[in-house]
Amino acid sequence: MRKHLTVLSLLSLLVISTFAQQATEPSKSTPIARPRAVRFPAKVCTACIRAHMEFLASDALRGRGSATPDELVTVTYVASELRQYGIEPAGDDDGYIQRAQLLTRVVKGPPQLTFTIPGNGTPQPEVTWTHGSEILVLHMSQAEVSGPLQKIDLASGEQKVKPGSVVFFKTKEGKNPRASMIAAVQAGAAAVLASEYPSIRERWEKISRQLPQLPSQLKGNAEEGLGAGYNLVVVSQTAAPTLENVPEGTTVRLAAPTTTSENSYTWNAIGILRGMDPALQHAAVLFSAHLDHLGIGEPVKGDNIYNGADDDASGTTAVLELARVLGAGPRPRRTVIFALFGSEETGGLGSSYFREHPPIPLKDIAANLEFEMIGRPDPALKPDTVWLSGWERSNLGPVLAAHGAHLAGDPHPDQNFFARSDNYVLAKKGVVAQTVSSFGLHSDYHQPSDDLAHIDFKHMNWAIGSLLRPAQWLVNSDFKPKWKPGGKP
Ligand SMILES: [Zn+2]
Repeated sequence: MRKHLTVLSLLSLLVISTFAQQATEPSKSTPIARPRAVRFPAKVCTACIRAHMEFLASDALRGRGSATPDELVTVTYVASELRQYGIEPAGDDDGYIQRAQLLTRVVKGPPQLTFTIPGNGTPQPEVTWTHGSEILVLHMSQAEVSGPLQKIDLASGEQKVKPGSVVFFKTKEGKNPRASMIAAVQAGAAAVLASEYPSIRERWEKISRQLPQLPSQLKGNAEEGLGAGYNLVVVSQTAAPTLENVPEGTTVRLAAPTTTSENSYTWNAIGILRGMDPALQHAAVLFSAHLDHLGIGEPVKGDNIYNGADDDASGTTAVLELARVLGAGPRPRRTVIFALFGSEETGGLGSSYFREHPPIPLKDIAANLEFEMIGRPDPALKPDTVWLSGWERSNLGPVLAAHGAHLAGDPHPDQNFFARSDNYVLAKKGVVAQTVSSFGLHSDYHQPSDDLAHIDFKHMNWAIGSLLRPAQWLVNSDFKPKWKPGGKP
């Protein structure tokens, strides 16, 4: 979407989003007080949803790039909305915003792939291939990665990827192996190599002139958040036969010279509604979403703004709407935390920081619902249904469904969505944390066309509205969800 926003229309957006919840417009001289007009059972505020979306997914926010000034504007907006809803601040310095320092790593020279062909007892020289010559590094997420070689011939069908291995795909004649490469990454390969294919040959020169960019890391946090290994390499036609003859299990290493600087931040917005019941002090509920997206990127059909309306302005809006309703209602029995995370798209950095700096001890969070991509219905589900990732892993989904949530199991288990959002960062630490979504694998995912024009507001209003009652039940219940045997990651 490339739409011209005049200063006036931008101002009017801001005004709509700030005042949309007020029943009547205050006259100019009236001091603005937050009315507590929500009646229970609560109804969804469709104007609020529209107003949030029109700001969050606007071109003015330039795609809310992770750890950019646009992310800071986004988090500031979310913080001011939480204030308006009567939610207490739970970020840094008595405010809502939590700031995390990032380490930026810059690749200083072409990455190299090295391995040694074992000889018959005689020491062999190390083979070194360089980006732009024998190899092309398409993507790199670590400055250095190594693992035992696993060779897979794509012409001879499916073969299981061994986690931690450096997979080498011998590609099928004329076929683009990209999908197999991504699948291998998701299966836990440390790095994935593929022999050259036609569409990459055309772009070889162009890609070889660029050095790969490494994602930022959280300062002082060695433990990874999401998607640790995303290292993709193409091996040239002339070099590939050498690798085909290297025995399986040979250590292959991919490394790039880098420098590190501490010059960037990411931000979360965190609010808390303190529960009334002392017996439930250690059983808080966390509602979360990520507020960042991909920012400005490669233009597609002349549009370079990756608005991220569905991903994840829609989830952010759902959490804000829950905050509005719960903030206006009677104080719940359990403590409720509202967290909007930065830098999910670059590896769950905001949620990882939250995990290390939670407003209450992590063990006192009994359940986390993350909201991701609920702006469009999933055609794989019955109408008016959303899905929960990792449905079979805990009793959270079935119990919420029994209390009126139109929730179903994730119909795309092969996509491994359970491990692809902020919930996973917390689930790995034991929190029963799952993601609510209705993403139906639409082709606008991570494209500039994930914009307001493609949001189905009827569905989105329904999806958020349908979750209000189950959420109100949850925050007032004694229910502490449990992992099923083998369900805990
Ligand atoms: Zn997302």
